[in-house]
Amino acid sequence: MTQKGKLVVITGPSGVGKGTIVKALRAKYPDFFLSISATTRYPRQGEVDGKDYYFLSRVQFQEMITNDKLLEWAEYTENYYGTPRQPVLKEINKGKVVILEIEVLGAKQVKKSFPSATTIFILPPSIEILEQRLRGRGTDSEEVIIKRLTKAKEELAVTDQFDYQVINDTLETTIDYVESIIKVE
Ligand code: ADP
Ligand code: 5GP
Repeated sequence: MTQKGKLVVITGPSGVGKGTIVKALRAKYPDFFLSISATTRYPRQGEVDGKDYYFLSRVQFQEMITNDKLLEWAEYTENYYGTPRQPVLKEINKGKVVILEIEVLGAKQVKKSFPSATTIFILPPSIEILEQRLRGRGTDSEEVIIKRLTKAKEELAVTDQFDYQVINDTLETTIDYVESIIKVE
């Protein structure tokens, strides 16, 4: 990748606050480009196709893989998630800060393909607090919450494979820290 812009990967378990952090960063820096992922999961209430995700069938997702249209992809709790390659490369070439908010396996793939990417792992203060946040968000069924918590325990075992580890305790402090990482890099 021609290194005009900057690729920043925010990863960590579901419910830790990745989306909240990225939203705050985008509000402060509207020029940051947030990649819109493709997924096979069903839209949650209020989610809009082409804004929150590209909601695809499994066949459509498979076609994107076959046609090499994804920068990375992973299966996460029985659904597929992936980053469309072209918009990311285009915005990086324009010199933009491009943010990917993705799960851990995909984040590792990105670091392998683009060693210059900055990878930030967001941790919860504790697994109990992660559970509270997942439940408090109110978007997932009990079955899905349990699957995500089980996955979180695996994900939290590999935090050292990322460039930075940030505990998302107080939101404002976390945002300041992530912002300072992006500025330094
Ligand atoms: P993710 O995108 O990692 O799945 P979200 O951004 O959806 O997580 O956050 C999950 C829930 O936790 C949301 O209800 C959000 O408002 C809340 N949350 C995020 N960060 C904090 C924080 N620092 N303290 C308390 N609640 C938080
Ligand atoms: P959710 O279903 O809560 O929107 O997302 C589930 C998990 O998939 C989250 O950890 C989220 O960061 C991750 N995710 C979202 N988009 C992508 C993507 O394009 N690639 C990968 N690998 N993970 C993604």
